[in-house]
Amino acid sequence: MFDRLRRWRENRRLQRLAVPVEAWEAAIADWPVAARYRGEARTRLRDMALRFLLRKEFVAADGLEVTDAMQLRIATMAAVPVLELGLEWYDGWVTLILYTGAFVPSHDREDEYGIVHTEREPLTGETSEHGPVILSWDDVASAGDAYNVVIHEMAHKLDMRSDGGPNGAPPLHPDMNPAAWTQAFTAAWEDLEHRADTDADDELPIDPYALQDAGEFFAVTSECFFEAPERLAAYWPALYRQLSAFYRQDPLSQ
Ligand SMILES: [Zn+2]
Repeated sequence: MFDRLRRWRENRRLQRLAVPVEAWEAAIADWPVAARYRGEARTRLRDMALRFLLRKEFVAADGLEVTDAMQLRIATMAAVPVLELGLEWYDGWVTLILYTGAFVPSHDREDEYGIVHTEREPLTGETSEHGPVILSWDDVASAGDAYNVVIHEMAHKLDMRSDGGPNGAPPLHPDMNPAAWTQAFTAAWEDLEHRADTDADDELPIDPYALQDAGEFFAVTSECFFEAPERLAAYWPALYRQLSAFYRQDPLSQ
């Protein structure tokens, strides 16, 4: 009942939003991933992006002017990972905070040993379980080459839906095998660890930042799955298949 009411109210608001198809197309024209979605899938992607805008709230930080085109672009990037899962996977949080560029978090972070770290490194994106998603617009605009800060932070949000928090294990579907998931991720992790010891950073299949922890590994490989699927499948085919089963998409055959 609640779902139907929500849908009905949202449909009315969607009509009033009245975003022309051309405006949406223009906002994502230079994002190559969007070109993969054609016909019916493209219509669903646009619809989901607009519903994302209705359900979420954008807040500008540091004087950045947040345009409609910027919001459409971010909403579409966010819609891609959940296109076959449902927008409900992003329930439980509302706000996206946009900075012009990399930002320095003002909070302290407590680690697993209870030690509080005061972070002063600039970040490109950040989120917490029920907290806002914080993004650097510079980094949203420069997505590509296996890099996408929006998909990265959305992957964290999906990961946080399971009991263990952001631990690289989002809620898997009933038809998936958790042991196969763990095995594929562990093998890829060990391979990247080995390569990071011997190869230059720019020769690695993904950003070695992934080795921070299992949650970052899932987020960074998710970026690669959508932005550079051929690379992920070439290096770690089992991991590619697991991500394909989780996202219910196969970017290589789209
Ligand atoms: Zn991260």
